Amino acid sequence: MNITPIPAFSDNYIWMMTRKGRAAVVDPGDPAPVFKALNEQGLTLDTIIITHHHFDHTGGVAALKSATGCRVIGPDNPKITDINEVMSEGTQVTVLGYDFRVMEVPGHTLDHIAYYSVQDGTLFCGDTLFVGGCGRVFEGTFPMMQQSLAKLSDLPSETKVYCTHEYTLANLGFARKVEPMNADLMAHIETCEQRREDDLPTVPSTIGQELLINPFLRWHSPAIIAQLKQEGRHTGDSPADVFGAVRGWKDEG
Ligand SMILES: [Zn+2]
Repeated sequence: MNITPIPAFSDNYIWMMTRKGRAAVVDPGDPAPVFKALNEQGLTLDTIIITHHHFDHTGGVAALKSATGCRVIGPDNPKITDINEVMSEGTQVTVLGYDFRVMEVPGHTLDHIAYYSVQDGTLFCGDTLFVGGCGRVFEGTFPMMQQSLAKLSDLPSETKVYCTHEYTLANLGFARKVEPMNADLMAHIETCEQRREDDLPTVPSTIGQELLINPFLRWHSPAIIAQLKQEGRHTGDSPADVFGAVRGWKDEG
């Protein structure tokens, strides 16, 4: 699968899949850079894939659809106009000949969905899981978000995680506060700092990598639980408790 990032706004990535002169884009918040990429590469827009209703993920849909007549797939949310195929948990959808399975992952928003390709091990997860972090919980609850992240973390470890923001260095700075003795985390900070210095994306990551370094997936880590206790933030050892304490801590910063 050929996937490249189209940078948008200050830190969004609009992921573009291409195959045989056709393209699909994920969460086009801004139509301009998408039109530019299509023109430069002589591509026809086939499908727009939407993960959730936020404007920085949907703002370009109307203009792209009316100019190209492309198909638009996305969650069941009437706020998002222009969707012509509604996706829900377990929907199998084919995009550019690749099969994806839809997973409902509420928390950041209630309508949030992710798209997973078994054959290619690719995950488009919007604002649910980030490299070293996760989306803010705007509409759901902490336990709901933890369950959604648990669903994603159960995917095969080699799954490539295509999230929609370059928030990595800030996320990893927070992760270091939560788990200062995590050697995998320290190594990943170095790798990502170098990539940003070279003006390269830190995305995609993999599920296996995130399980090693992402404090929002490491609810079983004794080191994190100890750190929460030391900070006076420990409320219990259940995954939802640990996740909630870490998310609440991040929200303060
Ligand atoms: Zn969002």
